[in-house]
Amino acid sequence: MRVVVALGGNMILQKNDKGTFNQQFSRIQQSAKILAEIAANGNELVVTHGNGPQVGNLLIQQERGEPTVPAQPLSILDAMTQGQIGVMLELAMINAFSQRGITKKITVIPTLVEVDPKDPAFENPTKFIGPFYSEQEARKLEKMGMGPMKEQTGKGWRRVVASPIPQSIVEYEIIKNILLDNGIAIAVGGGGVPVVKAENGYEFVNAVIDKDRASQVLASQIRADELVILTDVSNAYRNYGTPEQEPIEEITVSEAEALLNKGEFGKGSMGPKIEACIAFVRNGGKKGIISDQEHALEAVRGNAGTRIVPDSRS
Ligand code: ADP
Ligand code: MG
Repeated sequence: MRVVVALGGNMILQKNDKGTFNQQFSRIQQSAKILAEIAANGNELVVTHGNGPQVGNLLIQQERGEPTVPAQPLSILDAMTQGQIGVMLELAMINAFSQRGITKKITVIPTLVEVDPKDPAFENPTKFIGPFYSEQEARKLEKMGMGPMKEQTGKGWRRVVASPIPQSIVEYEIIKNILLDNGIAIAVGGGGVPVVKAENGYEFVNAVIDKDRASQVLASQIRADELVILTDVSNAYRNYGTPEQEPIEEITVSEAEALLNKGEFGKGSMGPKIEACIAFVRNGGKKGIISDQEHALEAVRGNAGTRIVPDSRS
């Protein structure tokens, strides 16, 4: 079976963490053990991951480094976090896999993801990232090309970035070839580095792509059997946050669409995961899974997590 596993950025750097190297690496070592279990029964594996907390921290370093060191654009910061988290995962996976007796080779693919330059998200950047500023600081950073700033009601000024819909993973064939060559790939970190088609190839654009959506596009393009999205809740829930909340187990893609349209899932949190699973199954995938790390192996076996399956199973 070919499986794409997406790791939530928050599993690596959690809300009250300081974000030291040791803290992040020890979280990654936990994830690596689970990934080894998933790969142990011969599954082909691609691992993707988020970068929200890390890219926010990196932005602060860019700003504090000015004017001694020029700040780099957001697309390049996305790339930096791909390297940062990617090599930590690679090393942890090499160790965990060898302990488990798995001899597959593991590599990180810094990944470009094509987006549509006419995506309405560019006209209306809505995603707040990084720290808060005074209006004066915000204006200065705007001039430095670090993207538009908006006031987040009552809180202060903050950078907003576009979050365009991923269209295609530039390196998807290479990633597939790594699997065919018995390897394991870590790819589309942080949702990928966003690019748009230009006269001669591509151009970088400053945006943060949703990692759940980018993982789905990759999973569909490499014709994966399963998309597994690991986060900090064991399931998607009906009536989430109410006394009647109830974990969703196995549902069809049509049932998932109905629940999504009813507004059962948080926008920008559980919503994109459900949407990613729906799009994956609608594009020929066998199963989209949402689970926490603890139940990941059982979820892949079909006994835990939320599983979204095609309407007619034959
Ligand atoms: P990640 O970094 O893994 O993408 P998110 O915070 O974006 O994590 O999404 C997971 C969160 O979605 C959960 O912690 C929960 O607070 C929220 N959420 C919103 N709606 C639901 C729901 N219906 N069922 C479960 N979790 C939900
Ligand atoms: Mg998220």
